[in-house]
Amino acid sequence: MAAAETDRDAPSALCSEFLNFSAKDTAAKWLQVSNLPKEVYQHLACYVPKIYCLGPNLNPQNEDLLAQLLLQGPLEWYLCGEEPSVGLSKLEQNNQPSQLCGHVFKVGEPTYSCRECAADPTCVLCMQCFLGSVHKEHRYRMTTSGGGGFCDCGDTEAWKKGPYCQKHEPNISDSSQKDPLANLSAEMIARTYNVFSIILKYAVDMLTWDKEDELPEGLEPPARGDMYYCMLFNDEVHTYEQVIYTLQKAVNCTQKEAVSFATTVDRDGRKSVRFGDFQFCEQAKSVIVRNTSRQTKPLRVQVMHSSVVAHQCFALKALNWLGQTIRYSDALRRILCQVGLQRGPEGENSSLVDKLMLCDSKMWKGARNVYHQLFMSSLLMDPKYKKLFAIQFARSYQRLQTDFMEDDHERVVSVTSLSVQLFTAPTVARMLITDENLMTTIIRTFVDHLRHRDLQGRFQFERYTAQQAFKFRRVQSLIGDLKYVLISRPTEWTDQLREKYLEGFDAFLELLKCMQGMDPVVRQVGQHIEMEPEWEAAFTLQMKLTHIISMMQEWCASDERVLIEAYKKSLSALTHCHSGFTDGEQPITLSMCGHSVDTIRYCVSQEKVSIHLPVSRLLAGLHALLSKIEVAYRFPEQLPLSELSPPMLIEHPLRCLVLCAQVHAGMWRRNGFSLVNQIYYYHNVKCRVEMFDKDLIMLQAGASMMDPNHFLMIMLSRFELYHIFSSADCRKRYSRENANKDVVQQNNTLIEEMLHLIIMIVGERYTAGVGQVEITDEIRREIVHQLCIRPMAHSELVKALPENENKETGMERVIDSVALFKKPGVTGRGLYKLRPECAKMFNLYFHHYSRADQSKAEEAQRKIKRQNGEDSVLPPPVLPRFCPLFASLVNILQCDVLLGILGAVLQWAMEPSGGHWSESMLQRVLHLIGMGLVEEQQHLISSAEDYNDTNFNFTLKISRPGEAPANTASILALLETLQNAPHLEVHKDMIRWILKTVAYIKTTRECTASSPPSDSSGHSQEETVRDKEKAERKRKAEMARLRREKIMAQMSEMQRHFINENKELFQQSLEDLDPSTSSTLEHSPSSCDSALVCVGPRRWRAGGSDRRQVVTCILCQEEQEIRSDGKAMVLAAFVQRSTVMSKNRKRPPHNPDKYDPLFMHPDLSFGTHTGSCGHIMHSHCWQRYFEAVQAKEQRRQQRLRVHTSYDVENGEFLCPLCECLSNTVIPLLPLTKTCCSSEQPDLSQWLNITSHQMKALISAHRKSKASSAEAADETDGVNDCPPPDGFRLDHTPKNPYSSTIKEMLTTFGTATYKVGLKVHPNEQDPRVPIMCWGSCAYTIQSIERLLVDEEKPLFGSLPCRQDDCLSSLTRFGSACWTVSSHTTVQNHFIRLLAALVPDPRVENSPCILDVDMFHLLVSLVLSHPAVLCLDSSGLSADAAQLHFLHLITVAHVVQILLTSLPEEVRMEQETGGAEREEEESVCLLYNTLRSLLGRGLREVSSGWHLWLCVKAGILPYLRAAALFFHYLNGAPAPPELHALGAGEWEALCGYLCLPSNLLQLYFNNLDIMEPLLHGWCSHPALQALQSSVTLIRFPRESNHLIDLPGDYSALINQASSFTCPKSGGDKSRVPTLCLVCGAMLCSQSYCCQTELEGEDVGACTAHTFTCGAGVGIFLRVRESQVLFLAGKTKGCFYAPPYLDDYGETDQGLRRGNPLHLCHERYRKIQKLWRQHSITEEIGHAQEANQTLVGIDWQHL
Ligand SMILES: [Zn+2]
Ligand SMILES: [Zn+2]
Ligand SMILES: [Zn+2]
Ligand SMILES: [Zn+2]
Ligand SMILES: [Zn+2]
Ligand SMILES: [Zn+2]
Ligand SMILES: [Zn+2]
Repeated sequence: MAAAETDRDAPSALCSEFLNFSAKDTAAKWLQVSNLPKEVYQHLACYVPKIYCLGPNLNPQNEDLLAQLLLQGPLEWYLCGEEPSVGLSKLEQNNQPSQLCGHVFKVGEPTYSCRECAADPTCVLCMQCFLGSVHKEHRYRMTTSGGGGFCDCGDTEAWKKGPYCQKHEPNISDSSQKDPLANLSAEMIARTYNVFSIILKYAVDMLTWDKEDELPEGLEPPARGDMYYCMLFNDEVHTYEQVIYTLQKAVNCTQKEAVSFATTVDRDGRKSVRFGDFQFCEQAKSVIVRNTSRQTKPLRVQVMHSSVVAHQCFALKALNWLGQTIRYSDALRRILCQVGLQRGPEGENSSLVDKLMLCDSKMWKGARNVYHQLFMSSLLMDPKYKKLFAIQFARSYQRLQTDFMEDDHERVVSVTSLSVQLFTAPTVARMLITDENLMTTIIRTFVDHLRHRDLQGRFQFERYTAQQAFKFRRVQSLIGDLKYVLISRPTEWTDQLREKYLEGFDAFLELLKCMQGMDPVVRQVGQHIEMEPEWEAAFTLQMKLTHIISMMQEWCASDERVLIEAYKKSLSALTHCHSGFTDGEQPITLSMCGHSVDTIRYCVSQEKVSIHLPVSRLLAGLHALLSKIEVAYRFPEQLPLSELSPPMLIEHPLRCLVLCAQVHAGMWRRNGFSLVNQIYYYHNVKCRVEMFDKDLIMLQAGASMMDPNHFLMIMLSRFELYHIFSSADCRKRYSRENANKDVVQQNNTLIEEMLHLIIMIVGERYTAGVGQVEITDEIRREIVHQLCIRPMAHSELVKALPENENKETGMERVIDSVALFKKPGVTGRGLYKLRPECAKMFNLYFHHYSRADQSKAEEAQRKIKRQNGEDSVLPPPVLPRFCPLFASLVNILQCDVLLGILGAVLQWAMEPSGGHWSESMLQRVLHLIGMGLVEEQQHLISSAEDYNDTNFNFTLKISRPGEAPANTASILALLETLQNAPHLEVHKDMIRWILKTVAYIKTTRECTASSPPSDSSGHSQEETVRDKEKAERKRKAEMARLRREKIMAQMSEMQRHFINENKELFQQSLEDLDPSTSSTLEHSPSSCDSALVCVGPRRWRAGGSDRRQVVTCILCQEEQEIRSDGKAMVLAAFVQRSTVMSKNRKRPPHNPDKYDPLFMHPDLSFGTHTGSCGHIMHSHCWQRYFEAVQAKEQRRQQRLRVHTSYDVENGEFLCPLCECLSNTVIPLLPLTKTCCSSEQPDLSQWLNITSHQMKALISAHRKSKASSAEAADETDGVNDCPPPDGFRLDHTPKNPYSSTIKEMLTTFGTATYKVGLKVHPNEQDPRVPIMCWGSCAYTIQSIERLLVDEEKPLFGSLPCRQDDCLSSLTRFGSACWTVSSHTTVQNHFIRLLAALVPDPRVENSPCILDVDMFHLLVSLVLSHPAVLCLDSSGLSADAAQLHFLHLITVAHVVQILLTSLPEEVRMEQETGGAEREEEESVCLLYNTLRSLLGRGLREVSSGWHLWLCVKAGILPYLRAAALFFHYLNGAPAPPELHALGAGEWEALCGYLCLPSNLLQLYFNNLDIMEPLLHGWCSHPALQALQSSVTLIRFPRESNHLIDLPGDYSALINQASSFTCPKSGGDKSRVPTLCLVCGAMLCSQSYCCQTELEGEDVGACTAHTFTCGAGVGIFLRVRESQVLFLAGKTKGCFYAPPYLDDYGETDQGLRRGNPLHLCHERYRKIQKLWRQHSITEEIGHAQEANQTLVGIDWQHL
């Protein structure tokens, strides 16, 4: 930053003053003065500007120190009257703390709420209190705090049960009601009062100060310089990027500084961006303003004098100080409350607290946060002052809300957000309602802010400006406040409460009146609408108010008088609304079936209609409540029942339902999507409770008060179907009305809809008050119907059920009575399944089914019935009885008009449908008839029980012939005819069921008529019917079984066929053809030796005739034999860097250009892993395919910037068959042929020969180097060494491979080199072969580990893709030298050998402790052919391999002995003498080592433990070696290695041609081994090493992912205390846990971005490069989501290993159910990681979900 002035040396200028300053003396002086405020102000005026804000770079520590010394010191001395530390601790000791916990939540901290005991969901506990509470055993909900808010532990109002945790349990002996001030002396109180009032006033003065260049009276500084700050303020309009860009321009800072400024502005609300003289700052200000004012209002910038800023800084400090001081004593807190709320001289609203609140919207974010915190720790913690504060808050409510509307900050930093703390306390809320009329205030304020109305005074959201839309969003928070006030229902009502509640209810009705009829629609004919009308705002309002409306009703229900009054008010409001509707209401008369009724002429399809009818819906709700709590029967005289006009009640709900029907019939298509969306929400679970459900209730209420015939006629008329059914010959519709097919179709749908509505009106009785049910019955029925569709997970069910204001569905109470829970496996989730006995509740016309649900449920239920061998008929269920108020509804079923309609439809159905009737129409008619029959049965049963005569005789009515046109057939007669109609096959079951039931009812009636009703007769009757049904069912079931069997037989035949046909194509693997594998072993033990040995001259060899290996190319389907001179065949492969086996994640990544990978360190910190999907192609087929992919990608990128899941430029492609991510191919090679040559040198001879060869090679290489370098320095080249016999230095062997194979050898080698080292491809680089050998060794090692971890045998358990991959990788390794420079490979061999056999001519050989022995073995074996090829004396590769194995095994034993410090010697040894020999020899070797190395090694008395260490330590190496030689030489493995268990050691040693006492290798060759041992031990690194450095111990344990806590909230808690490491103690927003190493990172945030290879990357991506070589596995703690990352561009989310009790994950932590670790799932993730499948998993996820590709993974 370019500050004009240099920093003054501020502290030293003040130094002398500091030294002389005494806080004690100052306080003493203050005690004397008469005008204390003036004195303190003078002190502040003098010191504050000298301490704070002295330069551009603030120095908070220094400032705080000085402030403590010079400012707070004297205040504390004054307050205590003695040494503050003494005085304050005395206060603390005397304090009797209140029982409130009051812990203020940090952002992201876990909070807990008890779903059983919390008064409302805002009541929460902190983790500590929760763990000490009774609720942890209850059903609780866990969430993360958004910051602010505090723990409610100890608040008896917040909890129905267990309000205290163990820590906050009140001490009974205390009288907690005592005034805390009683403990304090009068002087103390007076002094505290003085200090608090001065300091609080000072802070309020400064924080509300709005002048930039002046200070309040009394604070003017003694001297003022020309020092200013350019202060930038936060707003919610400009983005981070805009601010950063502008700042770089305006104040010339770097991007980093700009980011830091922007971050601070965002966090604190303001930040000075420049310091200097006025001119200098003003200039920056104008640049910022100019740059940001183009589109929006400019960023707020002020140039402020430094002394003003200084005082404001201290004011914040002072508030913090107050907050800290009152913690010592409740008495101090009370005094502060008193000071804060004391009314000032200006009267109303003049207390300091008021002043702060009223200036809230003008303050910057940081200041607001500080004073809100103080309010929370003072006013809200003191029961007495909480009430007083609440009153002040309520009085200013309207003004605060108005300020908030204009404020551009989020609500969390507005003082209005404190409402949740005040209003949710039931006593406070009750008091505010009665004393301050809070309910009315909130509602009026709300209505006031929605001023935009239409002519009828209804809300109008159309053409909202941005400003109005913004306000509309803000004003919704008021609904939240109203909810808080209403959340706890009163148990006792006072007259005053009734009065104020009803006043609020009035205000609420005014609000609803503004909504009644809003957003009306008119059917569009002709043209499509031009613009979709606005509808969302109105629905947002409706949705937000849904719970309020329900709560209003519940309040009413708790007091009869209130209910009656509210009912009256609602009725008159509705009447008032109706007087406003005047559209087309001319009276007309309808008549049908001998009945007639007057109504109005109104057509939904022609006139205005609105879906918003909250007033009539509220009335409907209250009507049901009248019935439920029986007010209607007890005080009928108090109800305005006579004023009710049923036709008026039903009119608008009916219109609304007709609108839905017409939309469904396609009549409103031209009105666009907005209407479709409205109808969707009308039925949606979020809205339906206060929309659709209530309309239905209103129709039920209206119909129950009307003649059913009249009701149905009005309904017909509104559905615009009256003309069809009223005409005399309506039964002959088809002949009459054939004009327009569309119209007929439309009418059909309307008839269906109308019949469905009738079914619902009569059949929906599961609302308490409508039917005789409890609330639990209602929920149970909802669940049953959901589960009738299919089994569902807990969360799916929750989503399908309406939530109440406490976010509860009530499901848990009933679920077990209707469903069975099935636990999830390793994938998937737990499911609830319907109990079979509940299926009888199924109602096909359940009112909450969508059409899709309905058909799914129907299908599912029929299927189940068929499976059980039952009739698939789905008759209407038995329903509960109506409440008396609604009882007359059943008469709809037997009224003439309905029978007329039913008869007409049945008559139509006599003819096959030509479009004049529909299947669903008939189905509904049959259902209605069924309902009539079920109803009649129920009536018969109940009349039999209580002898109540009933005139419900449906069977009689349907047996009578039609009336209107005389002599038409009766319904029953029609049904009898229809049951044999061939075109009605699907309905036959139902018709038959109806006829059977009719017959049954008739006989029952006859019985009851003739003889007194008896249960037994009814029963026997029923039984005979049942018997018949049973027999029929059985017969059908048998037939079904036979049919099923036949189908199954066919299916399995087809399946077999398919497998046969495709197996060869797709499942082909080398295993079938390779002679080396176990399957062929049984029948062809063609080895000459009976023992199976994989290495050395005695090794197993393929039988005389070489088995041909033939494979099929997946691309061209041609067969191809694998031959050295044939066409190359390749395997798709994926090479990746890996740290999975790393034992040292702290090792910094290598410099790729300089790194020498020849020796792998035993910590295995970085490796290269090769995997394959096992699919084989011709190399030329693959090349063509890859070129096509490349070309396609180029075209695609030109067209549009779409990403793919693979990176073509990096050589990536998807396997053409299985779409597995690949980045290269491995060539397939035949087994190398070697012949058994007779005599081979033993180890010492061989070493001798080899060392001669080396000598010759080295000198030859030096010579050629020297000759090429020209300036031949012959000094060390003199000792020209003659090569041993048959060693031809100038020999160039013939390359055995065809050109395509050579090409593929280079391709794979280069790819391994490129990926493994992260460098550009260079096939000439000498490191290419090294990387290939390394990858071979590393891959084998990782697979060996995997087999151990999964407890699988070494051989025979690998999937063939891995088997093929390892075999081709190993054979490739042995061939790759042929395409490299032979000199290079020979050089590698020389250096490798020197590590084992120290050679003075080779420099920089590593110490044996720094070499991974298996890597050394693989590299030596695979590089040796480059040397061997020069030999013509008949040395064999087999002998050399065995010698390498023996030497390295000894070296490894030594390595193990040197590193396994036998500290943990256990005492119980000597189990048996079986291995005495081994123990003795190992002891001997160990002691030799001790004598060579001395101090470092402990003395060991017995070899038992040492031998154990050696055996355990070397086992992984032996296993890996067995795999390696198996794949290299093709020797089948002995059967012992195909199984787990004992005998592995012997089998391994035998297979590897090793003595089972490995020490023999040493002792039998002492002549060579001893010098070697000396050589190893004399390595300088080993001498220096000793035991100080942490050594790699053997065996190396498999790495596992970090341990996770069982309870997820422990993680949340851990994350909430995690702060961003880069921005000084800030909370991280996206704390993310590395599951590999346990590091917590600050992800997805600017602050922690770093540069990686020239690009900005987020913390996670950066971490993967050090921790996982580019691959990372993380847990995003706040989201409860696993994140996989690979490279910079790939990533995906993965299900977390945490499940709730219902077997579901909660990604995003939305549901808040407690989550627990699922070990199986975590192990599954770990397995993916261990087998290097993370990248592959990402590839599959991205292929499946294209949106994942577009995410900026690198910024996470
Ligand atoms: Zn707590
Ligand atoms: Zn507590
Ligand atoms: Zn509880
Ligand atoms: Zn091919
Ligand atoms: Zn594949
Ligand atoms: Zn890590
Ligand atoms: Zn950060």
